[in-house]
Amino acid sequence: MLSCVFCKIIQGEIPAQKIYEDSFSLAFLDINPASKGHTLLIPKDHYELLSQMPENEYLAFMKTLQKVVKGLMKYTDGVNILQNNGKDAGQLVPHVHFHIIPRRPGDEIKIETWRTHHDPDLDKVQKVIQSLLKD
Ligand code: AMP
Ligand code: ZN
Repeated sequence: MLSCVFCKIIQGEIPAQKIYEDSFSLAFLDINPASKGHTLLIPKDHYELLSQMPENEYLAFMKTLQKVVKGLMKYTDGVNILQNNGKDAGQLVPHVHFHIIPRRPGDEIKIETWRTHHDPDLDKVQKVIQSLLKD
């Protein structure tokens, strides 16, 4: 997709700090990192949502995710993996990407601390989501 910024990176039309590339995927540094080494992993084909990826590409992509994570786990002792899927989830760039965010003791990043609440409808929610997964 021509207007997509990540497609432009893949096509070499705009520069990026590439750190790993294979036939399906590209990993490069986020231009506005949450921490030093904040990496984005994208599939080379344009899909907006993770759910739209064909299974073979998705499986290859997941293999590469683990490879990049293994490398970054040598860079720091912890990483958060974040995938904003859809506008409501905060996705700004409509091309599937994983954020791999290196963490360090005492950093001020707060990905893992969301506000929780009591849900009296757990049983109902379970049934609804279970049935959605059957399709
Ligand atoms: P998201 O909110 O999950 O869609 O995040 C998109 C991410 O892409 C943000 O963290 C941006 O900093 C990053 N980003 C946008 N444009 C570029 C670019 N040209 N090179 C590297 N990272 C980018
Ligand atoms: Zn794209």
